[in-house]
Amino acid sequence: MKTVRTRSELNECLDKVDRSRLGFVPTMGALHAGHLSLVKRAKEECDTVVVSVFVNPTQFNDPKDLENYPRDERNDLIVLEKAGADIVFMPDVKEMYPEPDTRVFDFGQLDKVMEGATRPGHFNGVAQVVSKLFALVRPAKAFFGEKDFQQIAIVKAMCEGLDQSPQIVPCPIVREADGLAMSSRNALLTPEHRAAAPDIYRAMKAGVEKMGEMTPAEVEEFVTEKINSNPLLEVIYFKIVDALTMMQVENWKDSEAIQGCAAVRAGNVRLIDNIRFV
Ligand code: AMP
Repeated sequence: MKTVRTRSELNECLDKVDRSRLGFVPTMGALHAGHLSLVKRAKEECDTVVVSVFVNPTQFNDPKDLENYPRDERNDLIVLEKAGADIVFMPDVKEMYPEPDTRVFDFGQLDKVMEGATRPGHFNGVAQVVSKLFALVRPAKAFFGEKDFQQIAIVKAMCEGLDQSPQIVPCPIVREADGLAMSSRNALLTPEHRAAAPDIYRAMKAGVEKMGEMTPAEVEEFVTEKINSNPLLEVIYFKIVDALTMMQVENWKDSEAIQGCAAVRAGNVRLIDNIRFV
């Protein structure tokens, strides 16, 4: 495994690589089994796998969140080597943003709801960094976790505006044994909030069970109340949306793919999760 920190080192590594068999996994580090599942999938589908580890400042709307974001470069390199990554790209902020990125992306309604509505500027920052990384790596396939469900829709929409874009491969959510979706931010939970957090997935699963007797709006309310009944958790939103447009659905029959998406505050930590309804 080669670790590189600059664009020129990365270019040098990729010079001899067949890009039509190149896979790419962008991450912000503090890696866990969820990230590694993407690397594994990329290894299965590609000859060479590049993983980037970069905490992208432009996607943080809250400076405190950026400051507190967990970082563990040493362990990241150990687990990536074990997972079979070929090249790790670990740039610093100056390397990624030699000049401030002033690009403003237009995602129509896609970024006006859920994460986009509650974290202003977040998806613009995601699009900035992902488009830069795609231009540098030029992979055939890029692997993204469904944990960040809306992000996949944003990245796909962004690719429509690019000349050359990779195939976006969505990968299933990896969970802890108690159901909590794995996240780098879980490390920031207090033991009490960590014990409470699996209630998010429990409530969403209970919501799926109610589909037969409730409308989507009623299930939204049911799941929200169930999560909020734990005093350590506070729902920021729980929305049942069309899986392509991210627009709320009124009836279960309105769409071929329907997802329930949640953001929940657990103490100082903001957690997201989602579940398939239809
Ligand atoms: P992050 O480092 O949080 O930006 O995540 C990097 C990539 O890993 C994104 O595509 C995430 O969706 C994905 N990812 C994060 N957590 C999980 C998980 N629990 N299961 C599957 N993929 C995940």
